[in-house]
Amino acid sequence: MFAQVIVDIVHENVAGSAAHPRTFSYRVPPDMKLSVGQRVEGPFGRLIKEGVVLGFSEDCDVPPEKLRDIRAPLEDYPAILPCLLALAKRMAEDSHCPLAETLRLMLPAEMRGGRVQVKSQPVAQLAIPQEDVDEAVFKQGRSQKRRMLLNLLRDGEIHTVADLKLLVREPMEALRQLADASLVHLTQQEVLRRPGGNTPAEPVVDPVLTPFQQEVLDVVMPDMAEGRGRFLLHGVTGSGKTEVFIRLVREVLRQGRAAMILVPEIALTPQMVSWFRARFGAVAAVLHSRLSAGERFDEWRRIRRGEARVVIGARSAVFAPCENLGLIVVDEEHETTYLSDRHPRYDARDVAAWRCENEGATLLLASATPSILSFAKARRGDYTLLEMPCRVGSRPMPEVTVVDMRREIENGNRSVFSGLLTAKLRECMKRGEQAMLLMNRRGYNSFVSCRSCGLTMKCPNCDVALTYHIAGGDGRLHCHYCGHVADTPSKCPECASRYIRFFGAGTQKVEEELKKLFPEVNVVRMDVDTTSGKEGHAKLLDEFRSGRARILVGTQMIAKGLDFPKVTLVGVVAADMTLNLPDYRSRERTFQLLTQVAGRAGRGLIPGQVIIQTYKPEDEIITASAKQDYRAFFQMEFERRRTALYPPFTILARLLVESPSPAAAQRMAMALHTRCQTLLESHPLWKKRVLMMLLDQPSVKVLRGKTRWHVMFKLLVHPQTEEFVAALTEMAREDAEGADVYFEYNPTTMM
Ligand code: ADP
Ligand code: ZN
Ligand code: ZN
Repeated sequence: MFAQVIVDIVHENVAGSAAHPRTFSYRVPPDMKLSVGQRVEGPFGRLIKEGVVLGFSEDCDVPPEKLRDIRAPLEDYPAILPCLLALAKRMAEDSHCPLAETLRLMLPAEMRGGRVQVKSQPVAQLAIPQEDVDEAVFKQGRSQKRRMLLNLLRDGEIHTVADLKLLVREPMEALRQLADASLVHLTQQEVLRRPGGNTPAEPVVDPVLTPFQQEVLDVVMPDMAEGRGRFLLHGVTGSGKTEVFIRLVREVLRQGRAAMILVPEIALTPQMVSWFRARFGAVAAVLHSRLSAGERFDEWRRIRRGEARVVIGARSAVFAPCENLGLIVVDEEHETTYLSDRHPRYDARDVAAWRCENEGATLLLASATPSILSFAKARRGDYTLLEMPCRVGSRPMPEVTVVDMRREIENGNRSVFSGLLTAKLRECMKRGEQAMLLMNRRGYNSFVSCRSCGLTMKCPNCDVALTYHIAGGDGRLHCHYCGHVADTPSKCPECASRYIRFFGAGTQKVEEELKKLFPEVNVVRMDVDTTSGKEGHAKLLDEFRSGRARILVGTQMIAKGLDFPKVTLVGVVAADMTLNLPDYRSRERTFQLLTQVAGRAGRGLIPGQVIIQTYKPEDEIITASAKQDYRAFFQMEFERRRTALYPPFTILARLLVESPSPAAAQRMAMALHTRCQTLLESHPLWKKRVLMMLLDQPSVKVLRGKTRWHVMFKLLVHPQTEEFVAALTEMAREDAEGADVYFEYNPTTMM
């Protein structure tokens, strides 16, 4: 008997191509039981390597003297389920990368190379019939310890030695003597490390469903029973989407199947975990990157064995080893965190759709602000659109006021807060309620805008804001899409005002001003600087939830799915900040962000108020956000993408080069650029699909000590483009001397 094994090496000489993954044949020793998908170790050259069994054969064309034996299976079960093996193959083909690489996605990283072990603890159990215990106790003579232990084990149950220790001091030696006398079984039992402790959440009573929730369930349930259906749930903030997920999951469990809930970033949504734990207890497993290696491995095994049939997790949880899958929910489906743009690149939403299709499950994407891409698909009929247009308990949507910050300047107000926001904050504090302030400053760069007329310096070719380069830059304005460079003006080219400013204020500045305004109020600031560490978010959020802090200031991370019933006021300090980010998606992000953050207000019994401060109150995105009018936003943005040739109508991609040597980085990038030119000259059909190809340095020119260059592409969506993309992918995989080369496809950022 021979086994075909994919060896866990991604070097192209070993791995073969995506279309023809290279397997190696091994002899299976006669007494070894193996199945497809099982991990094994075997000799490879002079090393011992890990691999995955892809298949078996009766004969083999490798000469017998070259054939070697599989040394041992790594687990006694197939770590890769058949459905995930199929998924890995499909992904390898789609993203033109070796199967060995996509297979790695299917396992907790630490399982490779045996970096994580099963944890176990000693346990004891009676080894004789219960009726013989009295006699055995009698025979123990003067050893009180042994007599006590026998009495404790009399029930015949398995007791952990740790538990026995609570009653009998240092029981180990006595237990060993009992085991030697064949009175007791002393063995090791596996312990599962559980994230977030095993604290049972308070039980929750089911609320009565709203008519909209009921309607959605009535549509989805029949399809779910049939193992099909793809849905996009567009439900306004506070419409009770989570309750819909809970009811669907319960039904799936009742049918004996498994369910998966994907969230954008689990550290930000501990609420989801506690809600699901409250309803489903230990059946729910959690998977995300902040778990310890041991916790991740153990949660993975609970899922693999079918002990946990509800999986809650971030992006990579879409590869969880669930069998008999009935439902995948992708919550906040518009979030960019679902996209992994480094190798092997994937979009968790696409993977989820593929698994549902292949494994007979139902897909439910949900958001208050669906992505342009998903909503376009729903309009085309790829998804069934479901809508929940009202909040739970007929609570009103928050009332939104847009404040024109240009008027504030005219009136001599130079503070980051408008007169109105200051007044509303004061009232809110006086009433003993809570407020949230969004200040979305990120990255090293800022943009330039006129405080008098609101003009933002834009690229003439690209319809995106130009970026001012401070750190290590040249003090000029750059376009991150086409490389256009302009001088920084000293007065506004539109209205000649000298109030032309770099936007650089951040959360810290807002916090400072708040402390001056309300010295007696506790303020919590949440941004990447304050939320490092495993429990960073949870601690700050607790501070706010408990009411000890009354104002929460933060970047976009405070906008995501948080439910604080006591928040009655939400302020957006500078709405233009996201709008002017140098990215074609900045308009979509701004709408999502403003709508999501506005949705944090008035979730309790008191209605909420939202104040959006902007230098461009007439901007259509700001207006649509203020009205929370998703459809108006969608129409505008979809048309703009069509005319300006942005995704989904085109593809943006780049070859990114990084090297500790500036010369090597530049040389490599230039060589790649030349190769691409040559390649396109010899493939006229590919060339026709290339709208733009440009050699440049990204705006972040040095990152972690490495100099960066890139070759950027704008490509038409077309089958021939896919061939060109495959060629670029292969190019990035080749060994590059002294430099790292990455291929990125519709990356989340080109900075
Ligand atoms: P969304 O995710 O749509 O913004 P949530 O799922 O967070 O909304 O629900 C908003 C609030 O309404 C939560 O506090 C939730 O517990 C509550 N809720 C949901 N459904 C109901 C219902 N049918 N009756 C009463 N309260 C509900
Ligand atoms: Zn101006
Ligand atoms: Zn440009």
